[in-house]
Amino acid sequence: MESIILQSPSTLHADIDTVQSPESTRVSANKPRLASFSATRDSSISWGRRHHHGSWLHALGCASIMLLCPCLVIFIWISLASFDGSMKAALDVMLQHGPVSFYSTYAPKPDRTVALGYSLWILFQGALYRFLPSKLSTGQLTPAGNLLKYRTNGLLAWTVTHSLFGAAALSGIIHPAILARHWESLLISANVFGFLLSGFVYLKAHLSPTHEGDRKFSGSILYDMYMGIELNPRFGQLFDFKLFTNGRPGIIAWTLIDFSFIAYQYQLHGYVTYSILVSTALHTLYVVDFFINEDWYLRTIDICHDHFGFYLAWGSVVWLPSIYTLQTQYLARNPVALSSFQAVAILSIGISGYIIFRCVNHQKDLIRRTKGDCNLWGSPARVVRVIYHTKDGLEHNSILLCSGWWGLARHVNYLGDLILSYSMCATCGMDNLLPWTYAVFMTILLIHRCWRDEERCSKKYGKGWEEYCRRVKWVIIPGIY
Ligand code: NDP
Repeated sequence: MESIILQSPSTLHADIDTVQSPESTRVSANKPRLASFSATRDSSISWGRRHHHGSWLHALGCASIMLLCPCLVIFIWISLASFDGSMKAALDVMLQHGPVSFYSTYAPKPDRTVALGYSLWILFQGALYRFLPSKLSTGQLTPAGNLLKYRTNGLLAWTVTHSLFGAAALSGIIHPAILARHWESLLISANVFGFLLSGFVYLKAHLSPTHEGDRKFSGSILYDMYMGIELNPRFGQLFDFKLFTNGRPGIIAWTLIDFSFIAYQYQLHGYVTYSILVSTALHTLYVVDFFINEDWYLRTIDICHDHFGFYLAWGSVVWLPSIYTLQTQYLARNPVALSSFQAVAILSIGISGYIIFRCVNHQKDLIRRTKGDCNLWGSPARVVRVIYHTKDGLEHNSILLCSGWWGLARHVNYLGDLILSYSMCATCGMDNLLPWTYAVFMTILLIHRCWRDEERCSKKYGKGWEEYCRRVKWVIIPGIY
């Protein structure tokens, strides 16, 4: 194994908070110190989310996103339901009549029965997360030195949920298109839940934090509400809000929603197209892979670094189920006829993207588990051995892989994801922009992730990161970016 050892600059001593002796599921023994709701600022931890110190510009940006994203989700639904999927036609009417009149005329209507069903769905998923047999997996050391255990029984929860849905549909208890038929009221319920959850975790972070030392305050209420304060808010020792919200109601619903829209296409048109089947197959591959590798998810940015606020809470319960399923929502109403050749070609390209995604992520996981002592592509792995310091001056080692897939680009794992995302959208043809919103979003999300991850890693590893960047020049696509 070839490696180079580099030390981060001494000025980095404040970059990572004190690492205490690892203990599983440790909860602060001290009575929580209540933080001010206004301008408390704590920049002692610089991993996790970036700290902007809540400038008014960032606060304004966060407020705009929290206001505009729900409007965008509703706008897309209106375009699908009332304008044959044409966002341009919907926009023209909105500009002609003004947004207030537009939204009051076309906005989805709430429904009490659907709201009750949605509440039961969340409770049911909570019960599966809490009571199904589960392996206890270990996360990564948090900035405050907590090494948490997680219940990883997602694959079982996905299987139980889909089996029950299938059995209920086959026995006629529910119509398989039930989710598609009630989609407008479900959108309202999900939005209400997303906002309530974001408000709840904001208050909880101040009043009853789970791990006091793993909170981060910017000094701006809006920024804290959007990006989150607590890293791992929990109920008791093992009910982790972030893993549950990111990894259960929304992502399990993803494939259920797809299946429901396939049934809706059949109900509307009397046939099912290759395009909707290919799109659903690629979604299912991605979702099932997520649950098979749930352990791996514990070492990604979502779980290790992002705090839990509107961005992850609302994003997981509203944005994910509504935007990630756009292709099947679109195809149910506007069937696209792909030839067998086109269907196979799109499916093959999508699967290739998935294989890249899985292999790259596996290599990073392997290198960290074996501490660099493994072979990649038939040769000993090459790594940059980096050093960082904790706030108390303690020195720690880490490794950055720079061979195999990771020798090609620093975020080459995003490339596979992008190929897969564009393939999913290609099932909808090129006539309409709306179903491509997902691929556009993924491109923005992943490029933005590169920027914030590089900023964080460069603070953490200093010269070590510079050396790594010298060795691996490209960011996502070798030779292009
Ligand atoms: P990564 O899994 O790449 O995690 C980044 C972290 O890995 C860095 O902060 C650093 O953490 C460590 N790291 C960086 N470079 C190296 C290296 N060369 N060798 C070893 N460790 C390294 O990023 P994400 O969590 O963003 O993504 C994980 C996967 O999930 C990706 O494939 C992505 O496409 C996918 N994804 C999908 C989304 C979706 O909505 N569908 C959303 C987001 C991601 P450390 O501090 O430990 O050094």
